Amino acid sequence: MFEYAPAPESRAIVDIKPSYGLFIDGEFVDGTGKAFKTVNPATEEVLAEVAEASDADVDAAVKAARRAYTRVWSRMSGSERAKYLYRIARIIQERGRELAVLESIDNGKPIKESRDVDIPVVAAHFFYYAGWADKLKYSGFGETPLGVAGQVIPWNFPLLMLAWKIAPALACGNTVVLKPAETTPLTALLFAEICQQADLPPGVVNIVTGAGDTGRAIVSHPDVDKVAFTGSTDVGKAIARAVAGTNKKVTLELGGKAANIVFDDAPLDQAVEGIVNGIFFNQGHVCCAGSRLLVQESVADEVMERLKRRMATLRVGDPLDKNTDVGAINSAEQLAKIRELSDIGEAEGAERWSAPCDLPANGYWFAPTVFTGVSQAHRIAREEIFGPVLSVLTFRTPSEAIEKANNTPFGLSAGVWTDKGSRILSMANRLRAGVVWANTFNKFDPTSPFGGYKESGYGREGGRHGLEGYLKGEDS
Ligand code: NDP
Repeated sequence: MFEYAPAPESRAIVDIKPSYGLFIDGEFVDGTGKAFKTVNPATEEVLAEVAEASDADVDAAVKAARRAYTRVWSRMSGSERAKYLYRIARIIQERGRELAVLESIDNGKPIKESRDVDIPVVAAHFFYYAGWADKLKYSGFGETPLGVAGQVIPWNFPLLMLAWKIAPALACGNTVVLKPAETTPLTALLFAEICQQADLPPGVVNIVTGAGDTGRAIVSHPDVDKVAFTGSTDVGKAIARAVAGTNKKVTLELGGKAANIVFDDAPLDQAVEGIVNGIFFNQGHVCCAGSRLLVQESVADEVMERLKRRMATLRVGDPLDKNTDVGAINSAEQLAKIRELSDIGEAEGAERWSAPCDLPANGYWFAPTVFTGVSQAHRIAREEIFGPVLSVLTFRTPSEAIEKANNTPFGLSAGVWTDKGSRILSMANRLRAGVVWANTFNKFDPTSPFGGYKESGYGREGGRHGLEGYLKGEDS
């Protein structure tokens, strides 16, 4: 492989303040609780101190959201609400570079992903749902909003998950209190500034930073009408228990252990690109990652040889370098979890191979890794590793592939690689997964619904279906 000269994106475009408060009722206010630090996972440098919202802060945010809902937002016509959403979408495009650089600094993801995937899809979500705001009567789910939405999001796609939550909620006439993840609060706080810039009425969007306790306070607040959560299955289950017996509407988007299935008639070079994109995109911190490769036995050796050759060309390192393919692991905790599960994979008898690469001395890093000789019983075949680690299993017949693919507590996504259209359709019918990609992987579009079966959660985000979680339904 020939080397590229370093091509770092300048960070001069972002202005990170030493400390941040909470965004409540259209203004940044000091929290009444403690503060915590957010670090750059690529360097371990402290970026800023961020307020940890207490129960009282969450209560103030919910009250502001309720006021904005009853006095302003639910009374406004859909076409007026759309104007604000279009304005936000345009500002996101205008400030796209700033948002992308900040996302890469706080999260560790490569700039080419934040610049070319996250931020454009964020803007697209606001444009898309802006288009729905005055057409809700055609949604099939009625036109009546729910009220105040409490939204808790993870660290893997910080601004994108914010967009998936806020854009449909606002389009339907709800107001929101959103908590970004503890390790990635900065783009949500920049989004708060964008709400000010767009003259969004105060209280329509409230951003409260903090950790699990802040999330719990939002979910259990009695004046929250709707809870939307993306994150781990364990916390999702805790949230389902917390809201059971209340009138709150809930959508949960949880973990996954997707099968990426390669048949012997697939175009193998494209399939290898799809395998790489499926598991090494965003360091594998992707709920729908293709973390289980199911490859037909007759081509398994050839696919593995081509895959390892391709993995050896992945550039791991500085997230702000425009040539970087794989960035930093988001936190020390996540790195420890990836290491632990990988060690268990080896101890249980699977064969481990990592791409040769020099990892930086500081920060949190893990080389792209593949395990062969994996069986269904291995923990690395069953549990979400949420890192750049692929488990490879083989199959002989389509039925065996289906059985193995569906043998998981999850059901979020799957991929099928084959030359035959009829096989794609028959596999898609039999796979218990919310999204099935054919001859591609990890493609996201605001018009397309996304969500899971089984322990991957319930409810859909994106597309017309994404409106259902924010409206009262046809009969109300
Ligand atoms: P969590 O599910 O703990 O975090 C998701 C969000 O929920 C965060 O904002 C978190 O706050 C908040 N939260 C934590 N506890 C509660 C609670 N009791 N009530 C309400 N909100 C709460 O994920 P982790 O970051 O701990 O990651 C753990 C594992 O989860 C990963 O290793 C990965 O396997 C999986 N994961 C899956 C994701 C997905 O998209 N499916 C996304 C992220 C993680 P805080 O930031 O303080 O944790």
